[in-house]
Amino acid sequence: MKETILIQHATVICEGHPLNGKVADIYIEAGKIRAVGEDLTYTGPRYDATGKYVSPGFIDAHVHCYHGKTAIGISPDDIGVRYGVTTLIDAGTSGADTLQDFKENIIDNAVTRVLVLLNVATSGLLTLNELADPEAINAMRIREALEQYGPLIVGLKARASSSVLGTMGITPIQRAAELAQLNDLPLVVHIGNAPPDIETVVDSIPEKGIITHMYHNKPNGLFTESGSPKLQTSDARQRQVKFDVGHGSSSFSFEIAEKAIRAGFEPDMISSDLYDKNRQHPVRSLVRVMNKLLASGMSVDDCIACVTTNVKANLNLKDRGDLSLGALGDLTIFELEKGTFEWEDSVGDKRMGTIKIKPVLTVLGGTEYQIDNGGL
Ligand SMILES: [Zn+2]
Repeated sequence: MKETILIQHATVICEGHPLNGKVADIYIEAGKIRAVGEDLTYTGPRYDATGKYVSPGFIDAHVHCYHGKTAIGISPDDIGVRYGVTTLIDAGTSGADTLQDFKENIIDNAVTRVLVLLNVATSGLLTLNELADPEAINAMRIREALEQYGPLIVGLKARASSSVLGTMGITPIQRAAELAQLNDLPLVVHIGNAPPDIETVVDSIPEKGIITHMYHNKPNGLFTESGSPKLQTSDARQRQVKFDVGHGSSSFSFEIAEKAIRAGFEPDMISSDLYDKNRQHPVRSLVRVMNKLLASGMSVDDCIACVTTNVKANLNLKDRGDLSLGALGDLTIFELEKGTFEWEDSVGDKRMGTIKIKPVLTVLGGTEYQIDNGGL
């Protein structure tokens, strides 16, 4: 029977779980996690994961999978279950005016689960200067979308770079912050070229805010030349603002990441910012981005937390992201391969890693999906 399976003898990696680091079995019945323990017995379908690792299903918290109608997008199943990712969070490709189409034509037809950060611009990314129009944000339309699509929407998204904002300055970001607080949702803010300057952007980000593209190497970054966080950056972390990688076409630099990690500023979340044009190069898959963070000095456990338990906590996901009983039966089973692996960032710099996270099986709602190694 599909949706029911026993995963046996896997080393569990799940921050905060009593069996974290131990070899255990996970039983999924009718699509939900029903038991996690040592030596569970079940005579139905089993997967022997001896020598392998298991974690909650990986969640990519920043992708663009509204394929077809927007300026950017990629089909969810091209970057999801095939690559060990069970949930994709679309970061603002749709807005209140386009969410229905996105849901009915893409999300509902995908095997991979998709959640949405709703763009505060009602048109989403139909154009790429979505906040340059003073009429772009419509609080009433956002409210209606939240009422209609409730659990699908896990937060709001706004992009704070000059090409997006036109002559509007910081105003749309401040408006987005107000709306996020009013609706009690996290606000994810993309950072990039000035104006507005990074200090103004960071100071506008509310409690429960998340900054994406943290390790870009354009001017107007979050860190000083030496890699220590700027004053506003550490203030933001103090008030619980979270930081996300959001690799993308031009937003991940090994040099910036390594210096920041050495200075103690690790990410809270690791995401790919995948869409059609960066899929072949330089992003390819979430797990590839995770491996670049390993090569930048992070531990395996921290990398896994950044795509599971941390995403759960920061985006307030109730039904996934850990191994709670009753949670969705989503798991990623992977190996840790030792060797020498070359990775390239988004500015053409290369680094060698000595360990690689290599997904071998995706379990989604208790059903097995084979992995396409093209993601690595
Ligand atoms: Zn993006």
